[in-house]
Parts: sequence; structure tokens; C-alpha cells
Amino acid sequence: MTINANPLKQFFRQPVIYARLPSKGKFYPPGALDMPANNELPVLPMTAIDEITYRTPDALYNGQATVDVIQSCLPNIKNAWAIPAMDMDTILTAIRIATYGHEMEFLSRCPKCQHEHEQVLDLRTVLDRMQAPDYDKQLVHGDLEIYFKPMSYKNLNDNNQLQFENQKMLQMLPDENELPDTEKMHRLAEAMKSIPQITVIALSQSVSAIKTPQALVSEPEYIEEFLKNCDRKLFDRIRNHIIETKASGEIRPLKITCPECQHEYEQGVTLDMSSFFESAS
Ligand SMILES: [Zn+2]
Repeated sequence: MTINANPLKQFFRQPVIYARLPSKGKFYPPGALDMPANNELPVLPMTAIDEITYRTPDALYNGQATVDVIQSCLPNIKNAWAIPAMDMDTILTAIRIATYGHEMEFLSRCPKCQHEHEQVLDLRTVLDRMQAPDYDKQLVHGDLEIYFKPMSYKNLNDNNQLQFENQKMLQMLPDENELPDTEKMHRLAEAMKSIPQITVIALSQSVSAIKTPQALVSEPEYIEEFLKNCDRKLFDRIRNHIIETKASGEIRPLKITCPECQHEYEQGVTLDMSSFFESAS
């Protein structure tokens, strides 16, 4: 064991706020989270190294920057890839508050008169209003019971990459004029075919188990195969259930009144890593 004898240690960054996770620590595999007794995780501000890390475009794209920054600022989280999706907004908001303060400015355009004005969002109220979606509710379909779970950050990131690559493939097609039409059609068909594949993978990652009168199936490959082969009606029920559950945990849109024409409208808040932190400095 090594003892850190650096006398400067007491002057290292200190926790600025304490965050409560919407999941309350549920869904983390063993070892991924060291939950304090009071359920409040200390949140440290980002270091200069953290800031440089997340400004590297490649690191952001593969998710590693987000993982590194989370593990640096919330040392109780030992494996940020395992974070259930419902906790991500809370964690990123907490890091932003700890690093830059609780006020976030953004530009909003009135949809009625097109007037653009600056809005200030108090991120503490965003944290207070964060709600956990209910993954305990199961779906009964004939003899089947379907159980659910949130996706992990690893799942989210993998799916985003698949989607991104697929979009790139579709966008590239019209430029390749030297390709014969049959080849173009073939590639287009391939890219189109992988869209439902991506959907099935994403859905199967939100299903924890399926109970039949004879067995309880939790193997991901069996669940994925089932979703590819079940009837359309059941598939739609499962998909809608997952979409609704996920939406119940998302940040509510902000109610904004236009200072110019008094028109009231709603604006969604997104806290993804790239847009969320870029404007802060
Ligand atoms: Zn207006």
C-alpha cells in the first residue's frame, strides 16, 4: 500500500455538491458504484485535464471522455459505462453545477414572433425535478410476462455509434456517381436493412427477462431472437412500453414567455455532453 504523503493534498479540489441518483443505486452491477450510507454522492468540479479530455472530438464520439470525466468528478462511480440511462442527466447536470455554477444561459427563439432572447436556467431546479422512470412494471401478453430494465451508458453509446455510422452510409450514397446504379441500390438496401436491426438491439437491451409458463429467459441473445420473430402486435406493445417508460424520466420541457410578444411556449432541454459543456467557458 502506498500512502499519499503530499502535503498539498488538503488543497486538492473538494466536493461542491452532493447528488442523489434517480435510480437510488439500483441496476448497477456489483463493484460499479460505491454508494455512501446517506445515498448522496460527492461531486467534484472538473480538473483542467477533464476539460481537455471532453474537448477531444474523438474521445467524445466513442464515449470514453464522458466515462473518464464522470469517474473523475464522482469518485464513488467506479465504472461509468454501467450507469443506467436514467442517471445520466442528473450526473452531467451535477458535474456542470460543480464546475461552472448552477446558472446555464441559452438563447431561445419565440416561435410566434421569431424574437431571440437570452434565458437563464437554474440547474438546481432541473436536479430537483428529475424523476426515475418505473422499470418495475411488467407487461403481460397471453402466457408471457415481460420484465424491463434501463439501458446502460455503454448500450446508449454503442447504439448512437451504430446509428451515426448508418446515417453516414446513407448520406455518402448520392456522392458516389461513379458507382453503377445496381451497386448503389444494393448499398442503400443494406443501410436501410440495418435500421430495424438497430431498433431491435436497443429494445432487447431494455428487456431484462421474459417469463413463460415453463421458463424464465434472461439471456440477451434469446431475447433479441425473440424480438425478431414475435408477432407485430406484441413487438409494438413492447416498443411503446419502453418508449413511455423512458420518457417519464426525461427532463420536462421549459415553459418560456416571450419578452417581446408575451407568447408562451415550451422548449426541450438536452444535456448531452458536447452541447452541454461547450458553451460554458
Ligand atoms: Zn414572441
